[in-house]
Amino acid sequence: MHPHYRDMMLDVDSMSYEELLALEDRMGFVSTGLSEEALLSSLTHSKYFLFIEENALKESCSICQEDYEEEDELGTLDCGHSFHIACIEQWLRCKNICPICKSTGLCTRLGIASFPQFSM
Ligand SMILES: [Zn+2]
Ligand SMILES: [Zn+2]
Repeated sequence: MHPHYRDMMLDVDSMSYEELLALEDRMGFVSTGLSEEALLSSLTHSKYFLFIEENALKESCSICQEDYEEEDELGTLDCGHSFHIACIEQWLRCKNICPICKSTGLCTRLGIASFPQFSM
């Protein structure tokens, strides 16, 4: 590779969700995320129930920063972290890592959508 181009290579793993979205806007679909089939078959769904405790910390979704509401539908990753189902599905389509602990989001044999190497 010509050294001149090295800095222009995309490093999607270090990009934020917003940056990835902006990139998709510019370049069309870019993905290091999961396929739709993998998402549907591997993501654990559950509902959030508020435990009424005094001084209990309300949990919130780390992707949209909103507090969970009673009976919100959540998706749980292999690492045990949970997010709104809509938020985490959108996230996993971009990249299959946990937004909190950066471990692999879902281990699935259906695998990761292939990411073509390209320079800008
Ligand atoms: Zn959310
Ligand atoms: Zn995690």
